[in-house]
Amino acid sequence: MTQTQEQTVPTGDTPFVPIEKIVSLCKRRGFVYPNSEIYGGVSGIYDFGPLGVELRNNIRRFWWWSMVQTNDNVVGIEGSIITHPRVWEASGHVENFVDRLVDCKNCKRRFRYDHLPKENVRLNTCPVCGGELTEPRRFNLMMETYIGVLEGERMKTYLRGEASQNIYLDYDNVLKSSRVAIPFGICQIGKAFRNEVTPGNFLFRQREFEQWDLQFFVHPSEMQQWFDYWKERRFAWYQSIITHKDRLRFRAHGPDELAHYAKQAFDIEYQTILGWQEWEGIHWRQDWDLSRHSEYSGHDLSYTDPETKERYLPWIVETSGGVDRTFLNLLIDAYEEEPPSGKDKEGRTVLHLSPMLAPVKVAVLPLQKNKEELVTTAKELHHKLRRLMVCQYDDVANIGRRYRRQDEIGTPFCVTIDFTTLEDQTVTIRERDSMSQIRLHMNHVPAYLLERVRWDYSV
Ligand code: ATP
Repeated sequence: MTQTQEQTVPTGDTPFVPIEKIVSLCKRRGFVYPNSEIYGGVSGIYDFGPLGVELRNNIRRFWWWSMVQTNDNVVGIEGSIITHPRVWEASGHVENFVDRLVDCKNCKRRFRYDHLPKENVRLNTCPVCGGELTEPRRFNLMMETYIGVLEGERMKTYLRGEASQNIYLDYDNVLKSSRVAIPFGICQIGKAFRNEVTPGNFLFRQREFEQWDLQFFVHPSEMQQWFDYWKERRFAWYQSIITHKDRLRFRAHGPDELAHYAKQAFDIEYQTILGWQEWEGIHWRQDWDLSRHSEYSGHDLSYTDPETKERYLPWIVETSGGVDRTFLNLLIDAYEEEPPSGKDKEGRTVLHLSPMLAPVKVAVLPLQKNKEELVTTAKELHHKLRRLMVCQYDDVANIGRRYRRQDEIGTPFCVTIDFTTLEDQTVTIRERDSMSQIRLHMNHVPAYLLERVRWDYSV
């Protein structure tokens, strides 16, 4: 992302949360840390802390559940990060996976050429200070590595620049080893590596990140219908996990952006303080990938229809998104600073994360720490619940502060053990967003919570 885009503030009534607030929350509460921080960090590389890893796992699992587990015609794989180097020649990455970079001779800022506003390209000026720009230089984004130990026998290859190539490589094996027939899809979630020339905006543009891909193989005559189907389905999926539905849109690629084989392509974009940014791409890949791998490997990847015996190279609909951008966009979407109100006199920061994705599902809180019976009962319930879902026990500070601590990390439910519990075995369940409370018998708490946090998405 360029400096120009960083300065774009969308118009409209709704305030957008500054990225710095998300960065600060993530560090403070253990979602995300800068990688190698004690050595000064590495630009565009991050680690995920105790809450971050829970949220990430939930995001991944939900995608997998809704894309693989609940579709009869979709299967999953997990390919390796390192592949034969010819893969990246066939895919075009060695030759064409480049960004063009320009520097401002005056303020020394650096921009991706394709992200410059048209006017600045025309005038060759810096969008920040108006200074003159250098000639664009080409940089390949692939990260190199070597296989083997002996000098002279080492083979240069690459950390994968996109995860999807494994799917084309395994397509034939999947066909032969699974009971799939066209139309069918293969999904994968996996790390990708890019020497981004302008990493930045926190998790938005990293050098090591994670992608999720569906490659859906179809008969050419059915390409349009499946393209439309997955385009709409992926949009509905993203809509189902955000609160601000109006911040999601499609952007059609213009003729100058389309690959030569693509009839159309769309980005699903989300609007933040950085402007409208790509979240996932829906691509018309035709038979480009399978034909290139057939050509470069010498292995015929065409398909024979089991009934008609027609032989053809399948066409592909690709939906390719990012776990990290989902992580970031969800936090931005969920973040709210609520002013003091009748319900909460001090005001609070709250993450309105969907309960099924929230890193911690429930916190069990004894009303007072110094009353042994309250503590014992609370710990018993905590031990029971933590076998079913991520559950925290907290007895430090007054109950209001403990609620706010949980609100800030998006915990949808807090269960409070109070003196009435000791009399009739009922507890208070407080709901994060409305702050409303109900009383429930302790024995019913597990079933109640399980129902409220389960995967929920229908197509
Ligand atoms: P951009 O135009 O933003 O560079 P792209 O078009 O190169 O993205 P794709 O190659 O289509 O992106 O990758 C698919 C998805 O992977 C993107 O929609 C995004 O969610 C994610 N992604 C791509 N590059 C990065 C990155 N550097 N850091 C984090 N996520 C990324």
